[in-house]
Amino acid sequence: MGKAMIIGAGGVARVAIYKCCQNDEVFTDLMIASRTKSKCDEIKKELIGKTKTKITTAQVDADNVDELVNLINEYKPKLVINLALPYQDLSIMRACLKTNTHYLDTANYESPETAHFEYKEQWAMDEDFKSKNLTAVLGSGFDPGVTGIFSAYAMKHEFDEINYIDILDCNGGDHGYPFATNFNPEINIREVSAKGRYFENGKFIETEPMEIKREYDFDKVGKKDMYLLYHEELESLSKNIKGIKRIRFFMTFGQSYLTHLKCLENVGMTSIEPIEYEGKEIVPLQFLKAVLPDPASLGPRTKGKTNIGCIFRGKKDGKDKNLYIYNICDHEEAYKETGAQAVSYTTGVPAMIGASLIMSDIWTLKGTRNVEEFDPDPFMEGLNKWGLPYIIERNPKLVD
Ligand code: NDP
Repeated sequence: MGKAMIIGAGGVARVAIYKCCQNDEVFTDLMIASRTKSKCDEIKKELIGKTKTKITTAQVDADNVDELVNLINEYKPKLVINLALPYQDLSIMRACLKTNTHYLDTANYESPETAHFEYKEQWAMDEDFKSKNLTAVLGSGFDPGVTGIFSAYAMKHEFDEINYIDILDCNGGDHGYPFATNFNPEINIREVSAKGRYFENGKFIETEPMEIKREYDFDKVGKKDMYLLYHEELESLSKNIKGIKRIRFFMTFGQSYLTHLKCLENVGMTSIEPIEYEGKEIVPLQFLKAVLPDPASLGPRTKGKTNIGCIFRGKKDGKDKNLYIYNICDHEEAYKETGAQAVSYTTGVPAMIGASLIMSDIWTLKGTRNVEEFDPDPFMEGLNKWGLPYIIERNPKLVD
């Protein structure tokens, strides 16, 4: 059906590439372009003979708009799927605008200098994308991504109004290391060491990092401690879900992870302020990333499952109603299929599904759009078809 370009060749990109190649009627041609071309070539080599998709690879610095524009003009994809890092969102969006190309990502823009993330800069490009009749799909991973789709689906089919959403992100996987992060360590540590925040009665309420703790008994994983964090979909869902009174996001962490993180924080290793070391400027968090296990190397060692979903409370036909929609994903099965563990799998599959809906002209809204603004039904079908089936539980246990 058409040409797409994936930028990045890390864990999430690997899964999305495998899935695009399974969906080869939609993704007839795919360019993989990243900073390190050998990583693109490696993934291409693994897929030779397994797909009809014609894969090409290229080197690109996605911080450089001119380089991106040249590459996009040369290849002429219908859509650029940004699976590099959140730092590259704005430059890739600018290149898409200059080349009349649709855009999709899985994480909102972050500046490397400040550990703060919001949609402001990306939403500010709404009129630019609209005026060129282009779509920019923001946040088509799992969270953000599937959590927004679950919310749109619940709103469309199950509720007249949704008043409370609790997003629960549980990783019951064990990689056997005392401390490692499941995706890019720099992005992960910036996220979890930031202050917590949740939305209530029209405004955001800030908490200390990890201040609010709950326990939940997750299907197929068991009881886990989870902590309230700020997560970017809270910003868009609080705007897009009518009648919402409160949205919270909880993520599970094991005691070993938290103890190591606290210690690293206490000695200054998670700081993003540059320091001078032997005449060279280094950022402690970037140095820490260099000594931690590469998330890609966790794939073959990780056992167990993820369980991620949303608990909704609201009203239907004047009566109170509670509903839980979630997915369970097995780390070992994800690795067997794609060479990446479930955290990458649960992000890469939704990226491919969102991309396929743009490539097939099924999602046609223009401008910068968060996933919950689109029709959730074809996406939900895609989840069942492409490896992330969802479960609906009525009257679930609630989080207090
Ligand atoms: P990785 O660090 O594994 O991969 C990032 C890739 O981007 C690498 O191949 C890297 O190149 C490439 N890259 C980085 N900078 C540039 C640049 N300037 N130009 C070109 N390529 C570049 O990250 P993940 O695969 O784990 O994550 C990818 C994205 O997915 C991130 O934005 C992350 O925040 C997001 N994510 C979203 C989730 C969700 O549920 N919504 C969950 C998990 C992740 P190189 O190989 O040279 O380092």
